[in-house]
Amino acid sequence: MIRMGIDVGSTTTKAVLIDANNQIINSVVTPTGNNPPQTARNLAGELNQSATPQAICATGYGRKIVDFADKAITEITCHAAGVRAAHPDVATIIDIGGQDSKVITLDHTGGVADFAMNDKCAAGTGSFLDSIARRFELDLNELAHKCLQSSNPLPISSTCVVFAESEVIGLLTEGAELNDIISGIHASIAARISRLYAQVKGQAPVYFSGGVAKNEGMIKALESELGVKVTPAKNPQIMGAYGAAVLA
Ligand code: ADP
Repeated sequence: MIRMGIDVGSTTTKAVLIDANNQIINSVVTPTGNNPPQTARNLAGELNQSATPQAICATGYGRKIVDFADKAITEITCHAAGVRAAHPDVATIIDIGGQDSKVITLDHTGGVADFAMNDKCAAGTGSFLDSIARRFELDLNELAHKCLQSSNPLPISSTCVVFAESEVIGLLTEGAELNDIISGIHASIAARISRLYAQVKGQAPVYFSGGVAKNEGMIKALESELGVKVTPAKNPQIMGAYGAAVLA
């Protein structure tokens, strides 16, 4: 049966179409923008040109506005289902999106055993990296590249993104290397994730989902903070939508 999953996130909306074997037929990602219901309809319309789904499931913070979906399921459950379908050995999922981050542990049946979430503070999310990239006029690939070039991440002590940005400018004027500052920012996000990881007693194998999993610097920062191998999920940004499709 052909199924569609739609993940209306705070930053991007993702839609995935899968076949009876959970293989992806087509997928799309677009900024959620200021009219999420219309964005969701547009993405579904685009995918409908590849094949017509017999069931549609919505997820993400905007899942309730997808009025054409047959059901709506939380993104915790959908990320778990998606990563589990793509990587059956998964024990722990780190999901970092635009405005929230989560660590999810799975039980031996693949169900959610526990999760910890930060959706109150930008400091542990993609929006911190986005604002730093904008501040230094870098795209996200350049930001990751600069992070990887540093072997000396500078500690960022501010616990708030607004103050951290001023701290970063202060460090630059003191002559610090941009690569080391950027690496320090990645390390500060990894430190926040490690608290969530400890809360749920995360265990290997660890897979990384969400848009920030496309940032290789963040993968390395997490590995160094957690002391475990962190593998980006296949198509990490669409894992929630993929899981929704699997559960549709
Ligand atoms: P949400 O589901 O919360 O809307 P996503 O999972 O789509 O968010 O993640 C969005 C974030 O992913 C952005 O804030 C950005 O930091 C990050 N991101 C997206 N594409 C890339 C990329 N190519 N390289 C690095 N980071 C990326």
